[in-house]
Amino acid sequence: MLELTSNKAHDESRQGEAYAPISHDLNKYRRKFYIESYGCQMNFSDSEIVASILNGNGFGATRNFEEADLILLNTCSIREKAEQTVRKRLTEFKKIKRKRPGMLVGVLGCMAERLKSKLLEEEKLVDLVVGPDAYRTLPQLVLEAESGQKAVNVLLSREETYADISPVRIDTNGISAFVSIMRGCNNMCSFCVVPFTRGRERSRDAHSILRECNELFEQGYKEVTLLGQNVDSYYWLDEHRDDLITFARLLEKVALITPLLRVRFSTSHPKDITDEVLHTIARYDNICKYIHLPVQSGSSRILQLMNRTYTREWYLAKVNRIRQLLPGCGLSSDVISGFCTETEDDHRDTLSLMEQCKYDMSYMFFYSERPGTLAARRYSDDVPEEIKKKRLQEIVDLQGRLSFESNKEDLGKIFEVLIEGDSKKNKEYWMGRSSQNKVIVFPKDRKDLKKGDYVKVHVSNCTQATLIGNVIDN
Ligand code: SAM
Ligand code: SF4
Repeated sequence: MLELTSNKAHDESRQGEAYAPISHDLNKYRRKFYIESYGCQMNFSDSEIVASILNGNGFGATRNFEEADLILLNTCSIREKAEQTVRKRLTEFKKIKRKRPGMLVGVLGCMAERLKSKLLEEEKLVDLVVGPDAYRTLPQLVLEAESGQKAVNVLLSREETYADISPVRIDTNGISAFVSIMRGCNNMCSFCVVPFTRGRERSRDAHSILRECNELFEQGYKEVTLLGQNVDSYYWLDEHRDDLITFARLLEKVALITPLLRVRFSTSHPKDITDEVLHTIARYDNICKYIHLPVQSGSSRILQLMNRTYTREWYLAKVNRIRQLLPGCGLSSDVISGFCTETEDDHRDTLSLMEQCKYDMSYMFFYSERPGTLAARRYSDDVPEEIKKKRLQEIVDLQGRLSFESNKEDLGKIFEVLIEGDSKKNKEYWMGRSSQNKVIVFPKDRKDLKKGDYVKVHVSNCTQATLIGNVIDN
């Protein structure tokens, strides 16, 4: 499948990534677990919660599944391809299990509910099936599976936010971390399986979010991304103080921890992002000037079928408002080609909207019907696959041009960059991001710089995906 991959929300290069054992963990564990994660950032974040629960129950992480006592796949259902990848992987693990019968294999996350009986009983591929709200019961389920029982818990909850569990960070760059602020989704976009696999929306206790962000900063992290399917509808009542915390207020509280901690957030549903949020972003230098505002389609007719609750005009007015209140703000989107009944004219509307919005980046997909969704029940998936793919290719090509044009606009400008680590292509270069979320690489001329430092970089060259520059003295 064609997908633009350079993003954090659904980073193709991270699909199937194995959890890395933390290097400074001196604990001795009786047994080893191996976990692979698929799908969106929420899933990667959940794997960190699972790791924390397992560590507390005598399991240490390994990156080598051949030595694991427990293999877990944290799965995604968002598109058919994601499910196929996981099935293939399970078949491979089944072969290893023949050699090591004591080893347990478990499926976590979004595929759990829909495929539990198939995976457990029909295909006998797994020993445990655990839904996204049932990770606390994992140790008990392991015991049940060990005694030969079918270990399943796919109950969704209206309360579970894992607020009290400190995630054990997957061995990232040590500079930027994801912090889950809510779970589930109450929107009913007709193409989307998330409300069925992850349940109702619930917001996490604001105090625990602030505590986690504070701890991250103390551990040396310099950037947090607040995560949720629809962050702008974050809503938490502090009952002790009779105080209502909205997303704008949460954002402000996190920004106030220290100006040295950058704050990002994802994802914003266009219908929920308010002026109050935009004003808050404008007020604090450390809240990054970047908004991921998925449009999905540029045709009002298709948007209505998708149940996105806005029209093309309404969306464009929102983008204008962002440009007005936050000049120079980075903007990205999610786009789906070939949704039910999409005509060539609808597709042209998507392309023209993308041109108008001048997105810096997009995540682009062709429509994949998901069982149980509103669209699967109501509409016929009637756009032939080759047309979906052809339209997607046009969308990808257009985004490529828009990204390049956006990068060329930045030539000659100076950006504050947070250094995240070595450039992947050349170890003589640092790689970091601007507030607008653009990747910037620059030579390691100054020897006093290190990962986690902020520097000013003058941009002198660019590609479609990257800005290239030089450090200037502050
Ligand atoms: N909650 C976020 C939002 O509303 O923007 C994103 C949720 S989803 C994990 C990420 C993206 O996957 C969606 O924005 C959409 O573009 C894409 N997606 C979801 N369901 C899809 C489907 N059935 N076929 C193709 N793409 C899909
Ligand atoms: Fe899915 Fe829509 Fe919820 Fe995003 S807002 S998770 S696309 S239902």
